[in-house]
Amino acid sequence: MPTSVRRTKIVATLGPAWAEPAQMVALLDAGVNVVRINASHATSEIRARWIGEIQSITKARAESVATLVDLQGPRIRVGTLAEPLSLETGQRVVFAPESEAQAGEIPTTYDALAADVRVGARILLNDGLLSLEVTGVRDRRVQAVVHYGGELKSHKGMNLPGLEVSAPALTEKDLEDVDQAVALGADYVALSFVRRPEDMEQLRGLVPRGTKLIAKIEKDTALRNLCGILDASDAIMVARGDLGVELPFEEVPLMQKQIIREAGLHGKPVITATQMLESMIHAPRPTRAEASDVANAILDGTDAVMLSAETAVGRYPFEAVRAMDRIARAMEMQRPGRGVTIDAALGRRASEGELLPNHRAGQSGPVRTEDAIAVAVCAAAEMLSAPVILCFTSSGFTARKVSSCRPAVPVFACTPEPDTFRQLSLVWGVTSALIEHSTDYDAMLAVARRHILERGLARPGERLVVTAGVPFDMPGTTNLLKIEAV
Ligand code: PEP
Repeated sequence: MPTSVRRTKIVATLGPAWAEPAQMVALLDAGVNVVRINASHATSEIRARWIGEIQSITKARAESVATLVDLQGPRIRVGTLAEPLSLETGQRVVFAPESEAQAGEIPTTYDALAADVRVGARILLNDGLLSLEVTGVRDRRVQAVVHYGGELKSHKGMNLPGLEVSAPALTEKDLEDVDQAVALGADYVALSFVRRPEDMEQLRGLVPRGTKLIAKIEKDTALRNLCGILDASDAIMVARGDLGVELPFEEVPLMQKQIIREAGLHGKPVITATQMLESMIHAPRPTRAEASDVANAILDGTDAVMLSAETAVGRYPFEAVRAMDRIARAMEMQRPGRGVTIDAALGRRASEGELLPNHRAGQSGPVRTEDAIAVAVCAAAEMLSAPVILCFTSSGFTARKVSSCRPAVPVFACTPEPDTFRQLSLVWGVTSALIEHSTDYDAMLAVARRHILERGLARPGERLVVTAGVPFDMPGTTNLLKIEAV
């Protein structure tokens, strides 16, 4: 089996640390599959330049790379402070809307704070490092006492764990950033602080059909609505930064497993994000705990692992990508995929404690054709020791289906659609190639064979398991399984 193809995908956040074209080429060479642009940072002009540079560099490469614009969403923040405040434990403070805040009060960008909180609610500041409790609400002002103090600077994040905030899903800034992402041809748009499926449906109404949407799961409300959000999204992100502030941190590890498992059941790609290699912002090597964290997310069944500040502003962005690549490959050498069982085909529940969860487990209702084909394709590849699964796809549906069974061999997806070619770079185990449109199976197979041989994915005479939806131009019709010789 070729070990040259890494199955787990790497999402790297773009920032000043690799904003020059030569640095971009070096990071892509190091193994970045998806480039994330965080709309919370940099100006829209800078972001436009970055996306343009990445797109022109990736056009010339055989390996597909996708771009992901991550919207800020309704993040609540501290407003502008004249100077940093030092909050002492036991100190009493008052929050006021930024436009009305007077000297001595803490301004907030969230006008409805007083309407949404109640006495006893917690307010967490600066990534949860400062903790306060609401003691009173008066008109548009909120009184609070500091439980854990520290320095507070302008624009730090505010989290209100356990509260239903009334802020709209998309802010004015998000609407502008969505327009820009669409105009620049971003492949994925991610929405922060998603609470309900309707949040994703609203975003869906603002983008063309080809743009894929990612729901960031970082609020307890989102966890309660996870299935609906998955149905309304093309992929999800376990956004552990805010999730770990909104939830007690000890709940995050099991939540991560549950979210990844649920995404697999829905056949939707999932990214595990935040603080994966945090110490590499300042150091050239990860800690042992960080290496284990990345490895465990892979064992949980994540499609992709993400780097945030490590690549955006860190001192060692290349080393961070290489470290992720090494950890992923080491894990995959031991566990290249889950393997396929008849239980999977029949949707039987996986045994508790299984390390790589059975993604088809717990499925209810009749087995769908595409699921039966996907499981059969993986089983056939295993039984025949086929080195690769070949998949013809226009929307990427067939490739995602096969990937969600976590086959033991790489999936080579041939598509005539440039969007699909790039977007599949997020999907576990899938390598994609852009081929000319044809409705003739034999002609497409001949082209695919050439690519497979050129890339060293198989040797002449080996058997290939081929899958597709026929007719080719109709998305979501996975119905073909064939065995061919390379
Ligand atoms: C997160 O909270 O984990 C996350 C990825 O979002 P952001 O980086 O926008 O805070």
